[in-house]
Amino acid sequence: MSGKGGKGKEAPPGNAARSGKRKTKPIQRKTKSAASDNVAARAAVIDTAQKMSREGLSPGRSGNVSCRFGQGMLITPSGLAYAELTVRDIVYVSGDGTAQSDAPKPSSEWRFHLAAYQTRPDRHAVVHTHSLNATALACAGKAIPAFHYMVALAGGNDIPLVPYATFGTQELAGHVANGLRNRDACLMANHGQIAISQSLAAALELAFEVEQLAAQYIKALTIGPPVLLADDEMERMVEKFRNYGENANKHARG
Ligand code: 13P
Ligand code: ZN
Repeated sequence: MSGKGGKGKEAPPGNAARSGKRKTKPIQRKTKSAASDNVAARAAVIDTAQKMSREGLSPGRSGNVSCRFGQGMLITPSGLAYAELTVRDIVYVSGDGTAQSDAPKPSSEWRFHLAAYQTRPDRHAVVHTHSLNATALACAGKAIPAFHYMVALAGGNDIPLVPYATFGTQELAGHVANGLRNRDACLMANHGQIAISQSLAAALELAFEVEQLAAQYIKALTIGPPVLLADDEMERMVEKFRNYGENANKHARG
């Protein structure tokens, strides 16, 4: 449709009610889509947390999950059973640490989730778990060295171990931020592991990989000291992994 005639038909001049309606339409649409984005993101956080729990990556109510949202993040509530979560239980925490007031308390670890987003503007999802083997290594005070090329998935030649601090503290958030500055995953002494990525699905997948690598490393340690790969080989691996997901990304884009 073109020309004045067509336009005139859609919005007769002088019809204040109709032109008013036309003006408000885009705003209504925007509000509606922001609201549905919010619900979809909350549902995705729940889906990720439930998968983490169902697949045995974090026992009981341990662990937590978040995704970047607006100027802050959407995060799992503290201490609620994953199987029973609804979208209303997911908490919005703004960039300055203010939690949504009409929701349950956010995860006690909201400080290190926020610190991860602040330290890594290129990452948009965080998964923290108490997975068995990663936690065992973290309790033995061991990082994961370059014993296998897959360690490079975390972005370097090791998966570092950050020092212990009481859960939920700013001190722990500081340690986690240091650990994630040049890596997408790290172990947390006497606690567990944390993985970050561009999406919730990718962060969960990385947490699984870290757990798998931890199990393999423990097994290798029982036979003898594992043979480590050289730094230049690990640099090549990091480079290779940068493009590794391209097929999957193309499929996802359709
Ligand atoms: P939240 O239930 O408060 O998220 O705590 C679980 C946890 O893993 C603490 O480190
Ligand atoms: Zn924890």
